[in-house]
Amino acid sequence: MNIAGFVARNARKYPQHQAVVSPESTHSWAQLDQQVNQLARYLSQQHKVQDGDRVALVLPNSYAFIVAYFAVQRAGAIVVPVNVRLAAPELEYILQDSGAATVLTCSMTDEAVKLLQEKGTNAVWLDDVDHLLQDVSNAPVDCDSDDDDLCALLYTSGTTGRPKGVLFNHKALLGVATMFAVEMEYKPESRLLSLMPFTHSAPLNLSLVAGTMVGCTHVVAPTFTPDLLLDLVEKEKTTHFFGAPVAYRLTAQHPDIANRDLSSMTHWIYGGGPLAADHAQLARKAFASDQFYCVYGLTEAGPTGTLLLPEDHATKAGSIGYRAALNTEIRLVDEADKPVETNQPGEIQLTGEGMMLGYWNKPEATAEVLTEDGWLRTGDIAIRDEDGFYWVKDRKKDLIISGGVNVYPREVEDALASHPEVAESAVIGVPHQEWGETVKACVVLKSDLDNAEEALKAHLKPLLADYKVPRLIQVMTELPHNANGKVLKHLLRAEQST
Ligand code: AMP
Ligand code: MG
Ligand code: MG
Repeated sequence: MNIAGFVARNARKYPQHQAVVSPESTHSWAQLDQQVNQLARYLSQQHKVQDGDRVALVLPNSYAFIVAYFAVQRAGAIVVPVNVRLAAPELEYILQDSGAATVLTCSMTDEAVKLLQEKGTNAVWLDDVDHLLQDVSNAPVDCDSDDDDLCALLYTSGTTGRPKGVLFNHKALLGVATMFAVEMEYKPESRLLSLMPFTHSAPLNLSLVAGTMVGCTHVVAPTFTPDLLLDLVEKEKTTHFFGAPVAYRLTAQHPDIANRDLSSMTHWIYGGGPLAADHAQLARKAFASDQFYCVYGLTEAGPTGTLLLPEDHATKAGSIGYRAALNTEIRLVDEADKPVETNQPGEIQLTGEGMMLGYWNKPEATAEVLTEDGWLRTGDIAIRDEDGFYWVKDRKKDLIISGGVNVYPREVEDALASHPEVAESAVIGVPHQEWGETVKACVVLKSDLDNAEEALKAHLKPLLADYKVPRLIQVMTELPHNANGKVLKHLLRAEQST
């Protein structure tokens, strides 16, 4: 099977049903399937894309993204989605690491365009898909693949600071898609609203891939705002929305939410980071809905993991539910991989049909997280209460989640270190009402720097995506260290709460 085969099957079963509704256009499954064929053929013929090649997508959520995603897979290649907000050096690293020789895009900064030119990377511009493909045959492209063929490489940052490529084959994506389609009761009549970037595993695999498997309609827009969320639910009568917790916190505060007709929605899904129990309850009230689902998972697991169901929200909001999702198993273990007792902290480990094959070209990192018997070490610490519900306590590593997106302190520290006046820095997450956490840098300078805060921010701007640039910078005379010279971040964090 090939994931792109879902599109061809929908075109046979429901040719005239809406496949993609975007602000500019509406396309049916028949139209989408034709253009997927055309783009797959165009990539093979014009750009010599072959089986197993990596092809990067630098595209916002749009019809073009969806055509591109399935065309790359139909051409037998491996799709590498890249967030459009990444700065040129970050894009460069991913292109280098993945070996992607072709980039499909429609919006890139001048720096990124220059970078592609310097590297001799092919850029295929998808601003006008119809125009690009007008002379390309739309005859079906054979998309027979083995279940084990690789088809997606999703970059997620590591604690080492550099993003790691998480590798999937068709079979794993089928496992994830089946899990979510069943758990969220997807039907061909379902209308899925996707405002979170498809470059993250959750919107990509849980909405785009799973929804396409079933034949749901994708309602997409390039960015999230509370207004857009409310407008599109009303206008398009959507049924499912997956959003990061911040999307729910912000929308719950919308002054007009009580006057909006959100009655078409059957599934309000949140996850990818913690939503405090109080915030979950406020959101349920503001959205006037009992149909809230929390999903816990991580990219390396597909993301599969656990679910907190609507009926358990009244008593267990803030937890991640009592059971693993379909196709998935969970265990809580100590350092020796032995099960822990009730209410004792342990690491969450997951196994099942959606697991990654491993990290791209990083066998050691892969061996660190995948046990020999096929369990994934998530690095998340949780407890299981007397009713069997799991509560995530902390991340083993120091991941910061700001506005639903991951920020890895080390990556920011490395960028700070490239400033000539920076002696040392430690980056931590500090609590923030709206964004969950915001990024703070504690910096020791080599000598006085005029207007240090602004100077450092200006330095970081071209190096990092905007959401990784610390909102707070504190200049310190020294950082607390342990005997091995490691910065004691918990002391810095403790200072924030006093
Ligand atoms: P990512 O690598 O971007 O997929 O992020 C995965 C991480 O986000 C997990 O390892 C958790 O630390 C965190 N996470 C995801 N979903 C939840 C959730 N529902 N509650 C708490 N933390 C979560
Ligand atoms: Mg093949
Ligand atoms: Mg991660």
